[in-house]
Amino acid sequence: MADEFDLVVIGAGPGGYTAAIRAAQLGMKVACIEKRSGKALGGTCLNIGCIPSKALLDSSELFEVISHKAKRHGIAVSGVSLDVTAMMARKTKVVKELTDGIAYLFKKYKVTAYYGAGKLAGNGKVVVTDDAGKMTELQAKNILLATGSDSTELPFMKFDGKIVLSSTEALELPEVPKHLIIVGGGYIGLELGSVWKRLGAKVTVLEFLPRILPVSDGGIAADVQKILAKQGFEFHLNTKVTGAEIKPGILGGTTVVVHAESKDGGKLTFEGDKVLVAVGRKPHTTGLGLDEAGIDYDKKTGKVKTDAHFHTNVAGVSAIGDVIDGPMLAHKASEEGLIYAEQLAGMKPHLDYEKIPSVIYIWPEVSAVGPTEEQLKERGIKYKTGKVPFLASGRAKAMDEQDGYVKVLSDATTDKLLAVHILGPRASDLIAECVTVMEYGGSAEDIARCTHSHPSLAETVGDAARMAYSGLPVNF
Ligand SMILES: Cc1cc2nc3c(=O)[nH]c(=O)nc-3n(C[C@H](O)[C@H](O)[C@H](O)COP(=O)(O)OP(=O)(O)OC[C@H]3O[C@@H](n4cnc5c(N)ncnc54)[C@H](O)[C@@H]3O)c2cc1C
Repeated sequence: MADEFDLVVIGAGPGGYTAAIRAAQLGMKVACIEKRSGKALGGTCLNIGCIPSKALLDSSELFEVISHKAKRHGIAVSGVSLDVTAMMARKTKVVKELTDGIAYLFKKYKVTAYYGAGKLAGNGKVVVTDDAGKMTELQAKNILLATGSDSTELPFMKFDGKIVLSSTEALELPEVPKHLIIVGGGYIGLELGSVWKRLGAKVTVLEFLPRILPVSDGGIAADVQKILAKQGFEFHLNTKVTGAEIKPGILGGTTVVVHAESKDGGKLTFEGDKVLVAVGRKPHTTGLGLDEAGIDYDKKTGKVKTDAHFHTNVAGVSAIGDVIDGPMLAHKASEEGLIYAEQLAGMKPHLDYEKIPSVIYIWPEVSAVGPTEEQLKERGIKYKTGKVPFLASGRAKAMDEQDGYVKVLSDATTDKLLAVHILGPRASDLIAECVTVMEYGGSAEDIARCTHSHPSLAETVGDAARMAYSGLPVNF
């Protein structure tokens, strides 16, 4: 007889594990199925995404600080050397502790974990097939698809895991590449490029569009490009990659020659030892049985279609996270997981998608909440701008981190806070205050009237907000 549950979640990423734990906390009998090898819970985010990339970004930033920035603080350091194996081991330990933490929470809240691939089998049934081919049937009152996403492969440049890399392999290189070519100027390419650039690689970014960071504010993206170019990144925009050839290197080893075309059709070649293809991510639905179950999904993007309550067109089957529409971000997936579980328990939570922040963990960091200036203009919304550089911040000066600025956009008539875009030190933390004020429907003046500690980076947020609402310069 099938094991019976109130909720069966397929996929134990931030969306799936959050939904499973919350539903269990609210009194439901819950199972969560995960097919990742090694019984690792936590999904892309914990295993091959947010966490390992941030572990390496922090390690490589420390290397950069010790090797180059410390001197400017009067600290002479000599004999600095790099142990990539130890750096990778630390990253693996960070990942392991966090994924084990999810297993601990499953036990604590009595979420039953099933390890294997989950497939919809109709009438509330899900079949789990484990690595040994053993099948287990589960019966569920509710089924939640939280199967996440995978790196998009270019048909003419298939991942081989050794020379042509996805982000997963770029997080595991045993040594620093001499020349890492990155196809795609989105956040994943720039974050991983930053890791290997700081550790000594030459990094070249090839981007099809005329700009990097296509979903960020245009002004911020242009300034990020300038800052990264100063750090040594080489950018080729309007460059269409058409293929890659792997050849023996002149001095041994292997070389990869990436072929591309410029906007005017000119042929270009780039020679390196690794190429990272970071051109986006696509929903992961392979083997899930969507067609057999009659689940409606977008045939072009592969995204499962849902209504505002995450329900698919098939009764009792819902979906959240990267596998549905919206920004492919861990905190979006986990918020949806919480909300789904709470709705199932009869609560009425709500998620405002326009107030989901985003962060790019290069240095200086980039963060944003709300529409870009371009989007506001497209929507015909009149806005005021307060833009204050970190150059004016005592704290940023003390830290020797004065690149970047805070840009606050508020409604031209009401001063309601519409968006904040930050390029600067610890932008990832500074955005939280702006999200809170926006969630409460606050104004730029509301931020400005809150006292910000001195000296702190948050003062620059306050100053930019003051400039937006008052229209006056802030450097008293
Ligand atoms: C390099 C990189 C860096 C990133 N950095 C950030 C960041 O800093 N911040 C941020 O917010 N986001 C970041 N992301 C994106 C983030 O990882 C995803 O948005 C997030 O993991 C999506 O969560 P999810 O629960 O929808 O899916 P996932 O985390 O992808 O989890 C889905 C899980 O479902 C499992 N699964 C799939 N099909 C089945 C099946 N049939 N049966 C059983 N199990 C199945 C998969 O094995 C996977 O473990 C990053 C991604 C990458 C690749």
